[in-house]
Amino acid sequence: KVEVIEHVRPPARLGQVGLRVKSVIAVGSGKGGVGKSTVAASIALMLRQLGSKVGLMDADVYGPSVPHLLGLSGRPAVNSDKKIEPIMLSDDSGRPPMPVMSMGFLVEPDQAVIWRGPMLHGSINQFLGDTHWGELDYLVIDMPPGTGDIALTLSQALPLAGSVVVCTPQEVALLDAIKAISMFRKVNIPILGMVENMSGFTCPDCGKTYDIFGRGGARAKAEELGIAFLGALPIDIELRTAGDEGRLATALCENDRARKPFETTAKAL
Ligand code: ADP
Repeated sequence: KVEVIEHVRPPARLGQVGLRVKSVIAVGSGKGGVGKSTVAASIALMLRQLGSKVGLMDADVYGPSVPHLLGLSGRPAVNSDKKIEPIMLSDDSGRPPMPVMSMGFLVEPDQAVIWRGPMLHGSINQFLGDTHWGELDYLVIDMPPGTGDIALTLSQALPLAGSVVVCTPQEVALLDAIKAISMFRKVNIPILGMVENMSGFTCPDCGKTYDIFGRGGARAKAEELGIAFLGALPIDIELRTAGDEGRLATALCENDRARKPFETTAKAL
């Protein structure tokens, strides 16, 4: 089943539509599958844990995985001000619920979404401006991998605080990450730093560390490019199973090993 999204809205400047957010952080990557959504969701959760008011917007409209990682579902309601009510994440952190908005809440999980350029721009603006985010310290945006369209739309719509680029230590992934960095630079979105994901694996049985995709490549590349290095996140089976089972938020509350790198990253932002 294929759904063609037909609603088109002209891009609007968000100041005009009343988004009240102090800082916007776009999390991007050069290619898919490097853990961008995991990192975006975890950074949002950690910033919230550190006491900030945080919203999470899944702009990866081609493959929205945030609802799955966080175990969220449901259809957002429209309130009396004609604003979309985001789905709220409640967990055991003791912090107030976190608003989350994703294309995944609007289409069935097995539906493919076909976007025409202007519609994509419209939907992103709608997600930003027509969602009842409330007052936020941070809005963390999970960007689609690679493509510059949405970055351009965001840079036009919002005064972005900056972007975080996620990559694995592999040479090919680093090359893609460099493309993402130059894309952000082209649309004048400052780079806050790079995160190296899947950076080594320590066997829980024997304690030996294997550099499955290599290690340290992103740190070296960040230094070479004069970009801050925000942290390295090892391959963690618990993190993967938690994501598959929609328990990412709980896992970050309970699992110190998984939480630490994100805590460091959030503190560095
Ligand atoms: P992307 O958004 O870049 O496509 P995701 O965040 O959806 O990537 O991650 C892809 C898959 O890899 C998910 O199943 C996720 O749980 C898993 N994953 C991400 N980071 C790690 C990690 N550090 N250790 C283990 N699994 C991970």
